[in-house]
Amino acid sequence: MQLVFEQIRSGGDRNFGYLLGDRDAGRAVLIDPSYSPDAFVARAREQGLTVTHIINTHCHEDHINGNARAVELTRAPVAAHPACPVSVEVPLSEGGNLSVGSLQLQFLHVPGHAADHLAVYEPAHDILMTGDLIFVGKVGGTRTDEDARVEWDSLQRVLKAIRPSATIWPGHDYGARPSSTLALERATNPFLRCADVDAFLQLKREWPDYKKRLGLR
Ligand SMILES: [Zn+2]
Repeated sequence: MQLVFEQIRSGGDRNFGYLLGDRDAGRAVLIDPSYSPDAFVARAREQGLTVTHIINTHCHEDHINGNARAVELTRAPVAAHPACPVSVEVPLSEGGNLSVGSLQLQFLHVPGHAADHLAVYEPAHDILMTGDLIFVGKVGGTRTDEDARVEWDSLQRVLKAIRPSATIWPGHDYGARPSSTLALERATNPFLRCADVDAFLQLKREWPDYKKRLGLR
């Protein structure tokens, strides 16, 4: 197995998508190839990789708007959570797996920011693609306290299920750095430092002031 892993700035609202594959097998997947699907496919082709799936972490427009073009270019099926409102040929839910050459991707269902949200984990290299669940320095926005409670539960499950050494790769470049580790986020991300769900809800309410006070962007 030879890992191919590229973080691609796709456009939009500082969106990140990913090319992930096994060079030896000549196989790769695109993750959230929005805004510039041609660039994602070009990176795969330049390396002689066949795109086997187009994976969406969740089905917000800014993550799926490249699907149609990516499918047209690759003929690969779209893989996402079955609750996704777009057509999903390969349904992925909690505990699901997908082989990409010798890579074995694992999926965690992590609702909150979106009901259909998945985190994508590649265990051999300890890579976790967090979509809009965990960003560097913050977490995905939620519209109601109820959604925020659901997100809190998802975060706690991820912290239990995935090794702290895992590198994390978010769906937007919102932080001080483009990637992080679970351990570093646990130590520094104010939302992951919350002692309980009430502190988490409180921080969400205070976030605009908190950001201003600390000079965060
Ligand atoms: Zn989103």
